[in-house]
Amino acid sequence: MDIHEYQAKELLRGFGVGVPDGALAYSPEQAAYRARELGGSRWIVKAQVHAGGRGKAGGVKLCGSDHEIADAAAAMFGRRLVTHQTGPEGKGVYRVYVEAAVPFEREIYLGFVLDRTTQRVMIVASSQGGMEIEEISAKSPESIVRSTVEPAVGLREFQAREIAFALGIPPGLTQQMVRTLQGCYRAFRDLDATMVEINPLVITTDNRILALDAKMTFDTNALFRHPQIAELRDKSQEDPRESSAADRGLNYIGLSGNIGCIVNGAGLAMATMDTIKMAGGEPANFLDIGGGATPERVAKAFRLVTSDKNVQAILVNIFAGINRCDWVADGVVQALKAEPLDMPVVVRLAGTNVEEGLKILARSGLPIIRATSLMEAAERAVIAWKNDAAQNTKVRVAG
Ligand code: GDP
Ligand code: MN
Repeated sequence: MDIHEYQAKELLRGFGVGVPDGALAYSPEQAAYRARELGGSRWIVKAQVHAGGRGKAGGVKLCGSDHEIADAAAAMFGRRLVTHQTGPEGKGVYRVYVEAAVPFEREIYLGFVLDRTTQRVMIVASSQGGMEIEEISAKSPESIVRSTVEPAVGLREFQAREIAFALGIPPGLTQQMVRTLQGCYRAFRDLDATMVEINPLVITTDNRILALDAKMTFDTNALFRHPQIAELRDKSQEDPRESSAADRGLNYIGLSGNIGCIVNGAGLAMATMDTIKMAGGEPANFLDIGGGATPERVAKAFRLVTSDKNVQAILVNIFAGINRCDWVADGVVQALKAEPLDMPVVVRLAGTNVEEGLKILARSGLPIIRATSLMEAAERAVIAWKNDAAQNTKVRVAG
């Protein structure tokens, strides 16, 4: 789960990381008012969206007066900000963050990620902050410092000093840098984050180390033990299809093709996507119903998948171990009887109670296309989708 910049800064501040003074606003008038409260003569207005690259996309504006702030905020509010990280649909701006502008001398990149190879938290830092890490690794890979943290002892002071030294932090600021690194590490560990990124971390002209930007991502499976983090969720920043699935305990991923997929298990989902592509089709989404799916859950999955307007055919691919094919078949039949669908439905069942499941499909009298192997299922789904699309075009042309 992602959170907003202002929320990440608030959390990091609690762990001793320096951040500029700032305030949140929900309207242009409030933004101007907040700036007056903060004081000073130069402010930064920042669109709060769950994506980076806002600076280049008009989501970060330096302002010198109330009027400029209100105008900058008015240009951001209600708009969908498109950055290189949001995809073409962008993300809605409903909150802006106003900060006292900070003059700085140097920008540093600082990231904390989970490194799967070493199974450790890895610190990635660079003296070339301000640009994205991808750009840094392309333009000045030699500036990147990597360091993994031994979980039994945490981030030790000598290790943090080594990082500060490698980044060329002036000796008088080493202690502040150590505190910043250790604060970020503790926030990462204590809050079950999967990513903390500060870009840029700056050295101000008055010799302070401040996080001018902050991004944090959390492990969704650990949110149950951090209710204060779970509360920070902002559904306006999520794909509505994915959040409504998550609310129902289903895993849904939206894609851009035409074949909707209902599967069980992430591995089978990947295999199903690949096979659809091999058969010449494009998946519109996939929905993982998980293990032990009841007929009601399957019926719910159908409603979710077909609520996507791009879906023109459905492929149900179940390899039942914990699941039961008869329950899945029941769910498919229930869903189709409750809401008949104007599109081909292909079902492939394998595993526990498969004979029973196939009987239920056959007895239903519904025009369900059955398949035995995964390849066959994908091919039938693609052919059925193409035929159906061709027919619909003819009807439209004739009409
Ligand atoms: P991002 O583009 O979404 O990563 O947004 P950032 O918060 O990183 O802002 C983009 C850029 O704006 C930063 O790299 C800074 O160069 C600049 N910026 C952000 N805050 C301040 C500030 O307080 N003072 C100054 N001078 N520049 C800032
Ligand atoms: Mn940034």
